[in-house]
Amino acid sequence: LEYQNIDLSSLVEELLPVIKQQAVKKQIDLSIKLPDTLEIVADADRLKQVFINLLNNAVNYTSDNGKVLLKVSEKLNHIEITISDTGIGIPDEAQSRIFERFYRVDRARSRNTGGTGLGLAIVKHIVEAHHGEIRLESQLEKGTTFIISLPRKPEYSKGLF
Ligand code: ATP
Ligand code: MG
Repeated sequence: LEYQNIDLSSLVEELLPVIKQQAVKKQIDLSIKLPDTLEIVADADRLKQVFINLLNNAVNYTSDNGKVLLKVSEKLNHIEITISDTGIGIPDEAQSRIFERFYRVDRARSRNTGGTGLGLAIVKHIVEAHHGEIRLESQLEKGTTFIISLPRKPEYSKGLF
């Protein structure tokens, strides 16, 4: 990782235009809740990839007129990133496999999104390289929430949840 001092809020602002375009096409209501600034020590390019992959999934696996919410909040020694959607959801039995490389819940339902099944494996790898944690809550046909906890500095890497 290339650790650097970054403002996470401006990092997110930079990648929003592309996501907004995708959301508009599906008339998805995209809400973003970010602090004005949020300084952390992390690898900027890798973190961008985390946001892009999770937001792409949230938009792809949510039907037209759904909602996607991204919230970043500051805790004492860590930050919390929450990405939730009102999409198709992930069945219980698939939730433990979702971070495996090439795993996709079912080819039929994700056929038209044409992914490779690598997005979440990459996300998990990057989060863990930063000594962070990722978990999800999902209900079939209701929606999915991914919650990431990241230390604000690599030395603050204990007791995240
Ligand atoms: P890509 O490599 O292009 O991202 P992908 O989206 O299929 O392909 P992942 O991002 O790793 O791969 O996601 C794995 C699978 O998890 C998806 O195929 C989909 O079935 C399921 N999934 C991921 N995110 C969501 C979500 N927000 N809602 C519902 N299902 C999801
Ligand atoms: Mg994906």
